[in-house]
Amino acid sequence: MTTTIEQDQDQTQPSVSVTVVGHPLIQQALTKLRNRDSDAETFQRYGRVAAQVLTLEVLRDLPLRRIPVETPLETTDGYELAETVVFVPVLRSGLAMLDAVRNFFPGSKVGFVGMERDETTAIAHQYYSKLPSQLGSSRVVILDPMLATGGSALATLDLLTARGARDLRVACIVAAPEGVRGINARYSDVPVWCCALDRALDDRKFILPGLGDFGDRYYGTAH
Ligand code: URA
Repeated sequence: MTTTIEQDQDQTQPSVSVTVVGHPLIQQALTKLRNRDSDAETFQRYGRVAAQVLTLEVLRDLPLRRIPVETPLETTDGYELAETVVFVPVLRSGLAMLDAVRNFFPGSKVGFVGMERDETTAIAHQYYSKLPSQLGSSRVVILDPMLATGGSALATLDLLTARGARDLRVACIVAAPEGVRGINARYSDVPVWCCALDRALDDRKFILPGLGDFGDRYYGTAH
């Protein structure tokens, strides 16, 4: 089930606008991802499942072009994608989502944006970017597994819009209301998609209940 939430449970806060993809495969994958006892291999397997099902939903409305196709028997109607997809993983953890989804979308391009979160201030700063041309005529999907404060996603949106991107979406595995609100407030026309909208952030800006540090758990670098 896919649910678009327009109002938070906490009525004292501004509403959030986010689409939560509640497919059964996602529910099961999320449970494995949240479980502190899942090892890196298990985390990778279910991270891929969640990213794949989520991205299929995010791109469900991609436009098609009708083309003729010759079967062994006759000519019939076929289709091909009419818009280029550009995936922009926010480094490092966004690479895990990219790995999982790129094969599904032949001809897709990849733009790289490197953001690092200061462990004490939780403020993201950009250390690298390399983006494809023709961003303005492409469907651009930002891949950011954990939308916490939204700082990295917002900085990425600023960069992409400055470089001409117009059709943008944000895809994350787990989102916090604060991160979604930040995007809604500054980019009201950019839809946000996630597998789960969690409760809150802790004082270190980790998502609660969350799943910990996505990059560390996926790449096995947790200490
Ligand atoms: N990044 C993560 O990997 N996890 C969080 O909970 C927040 C940001």
